[in-house]
Amino acid sequence: MISDTENSLLNSINKVRQNISEAAIKSGRTSEDVLLLGVTKTIDIETMRKAYDLGVKHFGENRVQEYLKKSDNLNRDCHWHIIGRLQTNKVKYLDQRIDLIHSLDRIELAEAIQQRGQKINHVFPALVQVNVSGERTKAGIYQDELINFLLKISKMGNIKVVGLMTIAPYTEEPEEVRYIFKKIKQLAVDIGREKVENINMKELSMGMSGDYRIAIEEGATIVRIGSALFGERDY
Ligand SMILES: *Cc1c(COP(=O)(O)O)cnc(C)c1O
Repeated sequence: MISDTENSLLNSINKVRQNISEAAIKSGRTSEDVLLLGVTKTIDIETMRKAYDLGVKHFGENRVQEYLKKSDNLNRDCHWHIIGRLQTNKVKYLDQRIDLIHSLDRIELAEAIQQRGQKINHVFPALVQVNVSGERTKAGIYQDELINFLLKISKMGNIKVVGLMTIAPYTEEPEEVRYIFKKIKQLAVDIGREKVENINMKELSMGMSGDYRIAIEEGATIVRIGSALFGERDY
């Protein structure tokens, strides 16, 4: 017997996958070029197991504590991503099971991650979070500070930058954020040309439930989807 919740999860996953595929084709790619990251903050472990069994193998959390608890109990061979603002005092809990940190957004955080990496003899793959909209309330490195930031990180042997991440401003009209995604893509191309040691621009983490189709059309390689898969969160 398939329960109603399982059915609706299956429907949501299928719909999101379909949208990803269509948007990827518009950008001259296929769905295999875009990673669907299920954002599971506040989502229970049972639902996550179901999602895994339905093919969502990458999970994103924004609290380190929640990540630790879930990764100890989920019992699936999944991949873990840290996506939200990471407090420096939580870095000591990061471990080798983390596939990618999406929110490297300040030098103190980089220094803490570097120290942690040295301690556990691990290189943490990370994306630099960029703030192109210039909104002061948003985390992220401003565009004109990005190259200097990257030059500093490139000397940290226990961090490997593999791309950029951004959170577009919320808007009712998704098309309004297209120019932000375009800008990030262009930044990644420009930085890629600089050939900074220890830095590559393979990944672009951009797009959430409201705007992932547009993000993919503009070159996203990872989309971070919460509510479109799991329903509205109640905090
Ligand atoms: C919560 C969150 C998401 C997912 O948001 P939805 O709109 O539910 O898809 C993506 N990225 C980050 C950084 C988040 O905190």
